[in-house]
Amino acid sequence: MSATLGSLLKELVPDWEITVFERLAKPGEESSNEWNNAGTGHSSLCELNYTVEKPDGTVDISKAIKVNEEYQLSRQFWSYLVNKNLIRNPRDFIRPLPHMSLVQGEDNVNFLRKRFEALSRNPLFQGMEFSADPEKLREWIPLIMKNRSGNEPIAATKIDSGTDVNFGALTRMLFDHLQKQNVTIKFKQNVDDIKRTRDGLWELKIRNLDSGVTEHHRAKFVFIGGGGGSLHLLQKSGIPEGKGIGGFPVSGIFMVCQNPEVVAQHHAKVYGKAPVGAPPMSVPHLDKRFIYDKEMLFFGPFAGFSPKFLKYGSMLDLFTSLKLHNIGTMIASGINNISLVKYLIKELMLSKEQRMEALREFVPNAKSEDWELVVAGQRVQVVKDTPAGKGTLQFGTEVISAADGSIAALLGASPGASTAVSVMLDVIQKCFPQHIKAWEPKIKEMIPSYGVSLQENPQLIQEIHASTARTLGLNN
Ligand SMILES: Cc1cc2nc3c(=O)[nH]c(=O)nc-3n(C[C@H](O)[C@H](O)[C@H](O)COP(=O)(O)OP(=O)(O)OC[C@H]3O[C@@H](n4cnc5c(N)ncnc54)[C@H](O)[C@@H]3O)c2cc1C
Repeated sequence: MSATLGSLLKELVPDWEITVFERLAKPGEESSNEWNNAGTGHSSLCELNYTVEKPDGTVDISKAIKVNEEYQLSRQFWSYLVNKNLIRNPRDFIRPLPHMSLVQGEDNVNFLRKRFEALSRNPLFQGMEFSADPEKLREWIPLIMKNRSGNEPIAATKIDSGTDVNFGALTRMLFDHLQKQNVTIKFKQNVDDIKRTRDGLWELKIRNLDSGVTEHHRAKFVFIGGGGGSLHLLQKSGIPEGKGIGGFPVSGIFMVCQNPEVVAQHHAKVYGKAPVGAPPMSVPHLDKRFIYDKEMLFFGPFAGFSPKFLKYGSMLDLFTSLKLHNIGTMIASGINNISLVKYLIKELMLSKEQRMEALREFVPNAKSEDWELVVAGQRVQVVKDTPAGKGTLQFGTEVISAADGSIAALLGASPGASTAVSVMLDVIQKCFPQHIKAWEPKIKEMIPSYGVSLQENPQLIQEIHASTARTLGLNN
């Protein structure tokens, strides 16, 4: 997220001085790392939780449209950077990969058919196919269909314009690019504190994690892009907009297969339905992944409970995030979500064999020796009071900024890195309203669909799909 914001700002105002402080030794080692997230270019081509069946039986696709439009902004900005030679070798961070949804049981098949009908009428989802024919499915997903027993109805949708994104590689590329643009990037530097100075600046207390020495840096504008670490820093800033907000951490585990014989039999991201009682981010999916030139399969993520806010964080993170201003909200959330916490603790305790059983619902003859467990990143969901109730768990991302636009923090985790460009444009709009008019022509040069509804401009979506596909080496 920080790398995206820096890259946008460097194009808009090249002479602004930017410094990045990172507590780890390298960039992109937390949630953005390729092993810590699922690498799905989220554009609602396969995620069933972005479309909801309404009481009248119709399917609401508004969230799917929103997420898809946001992803198109990312594709355009990445293409701009590649076309300008500011980042190279897009194949190292993005690959074409069919996105599929797969369901079993009559009700689910009916839902998927209705979802397909609603989406395929929209220009953003052109090219989506639906099939309930096991023969066709065997062609699309041989590994999943092999040795599948039972006569339960089964159906899938497939769209070839999906992507697999190595967000770790992209983060490293963006930081390399920023370093060449004179952005100072300091590693092993922990931001311990953020305080407002009397002259209206922000002062950051930075601790060198090797020497223990602390320094103070001042800035007119601060973006808190610490992933799970953002909430603590937002609280330290003391801005009123950060009051009353808490964080609920969800851990993740993937099962990874690197046996080339098995990997060769699966070429898609196949999303299923979340089990009853599971949070939306634990929808099981079986994905082909490209980590540089290595191909592998990821299954999961299995959600779990850990009080850490970062993968390399502290077991005290949840406890130290409790403040007088958010304790009521957090207690209410704890009471409302007891069943979710129980579910996450139960999931955390699963043995490898129990996880294999969940995998075998996807791949009936999966062998334990082919799969290893890999710990994923932490997701800190926003908890706040909303009209829906006290201590409501939010599953999206949220930009919290000071009224004067001098500081902003990004909280939450979903849809995540795929929509980084849209979220960072939101930061720019909130924090630099006085410049937006002057910056608009440049933003439109980088992102032609900025401010335009793509679904209402089928011609533009076609042009953008075609041009970004050409630049990034993707299917339309
Ligand atoms: C299991 C899982 C699956 C996911 N799947 C997908 C997916 O398929 N598609 C998708 O688009 N998104 C996905 N996401 C979400 C996505 O990974 C995140 O939204 C995105 O990576 C967040 O980027 P970020 O820059 O905000 O945070 P991060 O990548 O976590 O970076 C934050 C950085 O801040 C540093 N930091 C924190 N605190 C401090 C401090 N006090 N001082 C200095 N440095 C600090 C950290 O070390 C870290 O390097 C997934 C996430 C998880 C956990």
